Amino acid sequence: MSEKHKHFETAVIHEGYDSKDMLGSLSAPLFQTSTYSFESAEQGERRFAGEEEGYIYSRLGNPTVTVLEERIAALENGERGLAFASGMAAVSAVLIALTKANDHVLCSSGLYGCTFGLLTMMKEKYNISHDLSAMHSKEAIRSLIRPETTCIYVETPINPTMKLIDLKMVAEVAKEYDIPVVVDNTFSSPYLQRPLDLGCDVVLHSATKYIGGHGDVVAGLAVGKKDFMDSVAMTTQKDIGGVIAPFDAWLLIRGLKTLPVRLDRHCDNAEKVFEKLRNHPKVANVYYPNDESHPDFAIRQKQMKRGGGVISFDIEGTRQDAQKLLNNLGFLKIAVSLGDTETLIEHPATMTHAVIPEESREKMGITDQLIRLSVGLEAWEDIWSDLEQALNKV
Ligand SMILES: *Cc1c(COP(=O)(O)O)cnc(C)c1O
Repeated sequence: MSEKHKHFETAVIHEGYDSKDMLGSLSAPLFQTSTYSFESAEQGERRFAGEEEGYIYSRLGNPTVTVLEERIAALENGERGLAFASGMAAVSAVLIALTKANDHVLCSSGLYGCTFGLLTMMKEKYNISHDLSAMHSKEAIRSLIRPETTCIYVETPINPTMKLIDLKMVAEVAKEYDIPVVVDNTFSSPYLQRPLDLGCDVVLHSATKYIGGHGDVVAGLAVGKKDFMDSVAMTTQKDIGGVIAPFDAWLLIRGLKTLPVRLDRHCDNAEKVFEKLRNHPKVANVYYPNDESHPDFAIRQKQMKRGGGVISFDIEGTRQDAQKLLNNLGFLKIAVSLGDTETLIEHPATMTHAVIPEESREKMGITDQLIRLSVGLEAWEDIWSDLEQALNKV
């Protein structure tokens, strides 16, 4: 956060934009343009040569997108932010920038389904291999690092089992080998967890989730050191081209303004629903980072402000029972994604994580009875009563 906007709650609203620069427009304007005209041929030459600051073409930069990029960089306490067309565009731009043929990536034992798909494709096409690790200890991490390891890639909380990884510990081991640590911070948002402050190198988001917050945009963000992010901007972002649309950047600027307020309510609601789920006879296990009996609770206290808005639980029964639960819901929506105002519920084994081979899925703890719940901003009593009546029918 900058000197001017010391607190997170102020930075989400003001960082990266001053209405003085834009005719007093309180809301950052939407620059819906594909290109920018030069005043002369020589100016065009200087812009392309990098000798003069200024916009050239919207795949290379756009003023609305710049506001968003500066804001997320400040919120994650990093040097430079970049915005992408989706979370996966951010993941792929960063992973491809950090690897070449025959390299190796060490990953957390749970990964977003499409990130796992991307790593599988990189293995098949370029022999870039990967290992999955629970990263429980420094020794466990060291034992999997090879001379060709060029990236450590971590999700925490792990989707959908909500296990946690100690980011400070991972960063300390990575420093011994000079390997960059990339963290997918989608589930926490910078309001709950700031990986760069813990020594990690790059943080990325599916901004589709909590950062957008309203279920109306697909987008991604990444933040890191200026040199590395400059190289991503000039290679895997510019030349692969998964850039964000100006309107989507505008929606994210709007969404970010209420991030702390929304997140606190998501967490309040999730804590209430968690207590209820834990005491329901049809629920076998509940996974939520703010559970004091959770083995990772100490890590939660160390690195996350609160537990977040996502809860997973195993029901007593079979895959058919899990589907029956979903089919008996009233106003709660059966949908993938998370972090929206609406409560969303899904079945990872047949939806978000269906692409992962069954054997790997089981190792990740994704059973046929597992349900993932993204607790929304409705009254928690209404969320619970709908869930409870559906559980009672299982
Ligand atoms: C949704 C998600 C992604 C992918 O983001 P998209 O915006 O859908 O491309 C990556 N990581 C995590 C943890 C996610 O939840």
